[in-house]
Amino acid sequence: MKNFEFDSVIIGAGHNALVLAGYLAKSGLKVAVLERTAFIGGGAGTFPSPFHPGFVHEYHSQFHRNIPNLPWYSDLELDQYGLEYIYPQVNNGMPLSDGRCLIVHADPNITKKSIERFSKKDAENYFKIYHEYADMGRKIWFVRDYSPPIPPDEEQELMKKSKVGREFLELNKKSAYEMVHELFEDEALRAFYLFLFSVRGYLPVPTVKNTGFAIVAMTVMGNKAMMPRGGARQLTHALGSMVIRHGGVLFPATEVGEIIIKNGRAAGVETTDGRKFMAKQCVVSSVDPTQTFLKFIGEKHLDSAIVEGIKNYKYGISGKSFGVLFALHAGSHEAPNYTASKWDPMINQAFNTCVGYESPEEVLAHLTGVIEGTPTENIGIQCCCPTLFDPTRAPKGKHVLLAWQFAPYSIKDAGPEEWEKIKHEYLEKVLARWAEYAPNLAPKGNNIIYKFPETPPDTERHLINMREGDFHVGALIPEQLGFNRPLPQISGYKAPIDRLYLTGAGTHPGGNITGAPGYNAAQVVIRDLG
Ligand SMILES: Cc1cc2nc3c(=O)[nH]c(=O)nc-3n(C[C@H](O)[C@H](O)[C@H](O)COP(=O)(O)OP(=O)(O)OC[C@H]3O[C@@H](n4cnc5c(N)ncnc54)[C@H](O)[C@@H]3O)c2cc1C
Repeated sequence: MKNFEFDSVIIGAGHNALVLAGYLAKSGLKVAVLERTAFIGGGAGTFPSPFHPGFVHEYHSQFHRNIPNLPWYSDLELDQYGLEYIYPQVNNGMPLSDGRCLIVHADPNITKKSIERFSKKDAENYFKIYHEYADMGRKIWFVRDYSPPIPPDEEQELMKKSKVGREFLELNKKSAYEMVHELFEDEALRAFYLFLFSVRGYLPVPTVKNTGFAIVAMTVMGNKAMMPRGGARQLTHALGSMVIRHGGVLFPATEVGEIIIKNGRAAGVETTDGRKFMAKQCVVSSVDPTQTFLKFIGEKHLDSAIVEGIKNYKYGISGKSFGVLFALHAGSHEAPNYTASKWDPMINQAFNTCVGYESPEEVLAHLTGVIEGTPTENIGIQCCCPTLFDPTRAPKGKHVLLAWQFAPYSIKDAGPEEWEKIKHEYLEKVLARWAEYAPNLAPKGNNIIYKFPETPPDTERHLINMREGDFHVGALIPEQLGFNRPLPQISGYKAPIDRLYLTGAGTHPGGNITGAPGYNAAQVVIRDLG
């Protein structure tokens, strides 16, 4: 088998690994990025329909936030690689069964008018929060995510030193559940923001404290979803092209099985087919902590506390966190036509549409069912028709549909295998639920050209780092967040082996397309290597 030698060898080619690879390549290091699947991009990957030519689907991330304003976007000069973001002006919608709908526009002035039709008081509060707390979002939320984590006590002390920090601590004493009830009186609005909050991965019950600020953040950020023209893969394509232009090499279909450790130092990796990629400077793993520590490094090289910690690291529903989804993919002749468009026609132009929740209790009932392993196809779904904004994703005049909902990985009393038996019936129920609000999608009509499901075990099969289908690659629970991610001893993007570094969603600040773990880890590696 052939051996290779690079300065840095990076395991996994999701967007975080590619952001890091971009910085290392730009700094002059010869970089190799090794990817298990046939495609680079991980959870930012767009695939052609398996049924009809010309339709493309997002199997993973479908909306991104704020990407062109992130530091790595400009540092890596991604605007030179054909990447273009589309900003849907009608950003979020929520049709209700009584024919009304709530709409969040990119322009908060128009959103205020939409909320006024539900509650004047809520509209005033929305507007006030939107403007008063934008600064807090920038100064606290953003700085926290785009810096290596610091110990909680230190963070508290730092916060106490500024007015904005003290306000943040005050807001965060409450739970998201309490906060949403304090800020809004309308049940639908409360449900909407609790749902957005649970997309962050938390269970929105009153007992989960220190999450109040997230509702404020969702109020400020809830109108900023965007999508790359052509699909999420365009982002990772741009990142990959940037790495290649700076001398890096991408190796798809290259699964890492082991990290080679020589004299206590990470010297390279060995792939499952026996190739060796030696690293003169460093190895970086962007995959799940379980593979990195228990498989690639091995217990014999690790302190027992770390081995125990990683064995107890929780993924998805096992940790009561909601990074696990069932998805319906379809091609259609027409875009969804909501009954609520009679109340406000703009609902048909909404980018993300939250369907099926009308009160906070319904959000909670759904999530509780998910934790118990009960299929919950009749409750809430997030729906999207990307071709409304990006017609390149389907043949002329046709549409691509996506609906996802929180779902258990393992079905109660049956296990994950049960999904294979129930997935088609489940798919029909999800579509029927969507059609209750958009009747032209009714399964018995002839609008749907084809459809197929993606179950939580499918997610894990495609991307093995998303264990138990968890797209956050580790539950977002206080014990695994910030300085605790993945463990307090190894939260600064450094493994306890010389020249071995960590990045990816299993490190701070976790999952989603933020590039933050890649950006933060790159700063640490570059500083260490001088
Ligand atoms: C259904 C679904 C919907 C989602 N929707 C959104 C959304 O709308 N917006 C959003 O922001 N996020 C969304 N996400 C989450 C987002 O996709 C992930 O959080 C994100 O991709 C994590 O990025 P990463 O770079 O850390 O890891 P990944 O993207 O998971 O990349 C890791 C890479 O490592 C590779 N790998 C694993 N093991 C090995 C190995 N042994 N050797 C070599 N390579 C290996 C994997 O194949 C993968 O390509 C969604 C995810 C799913 C599953």
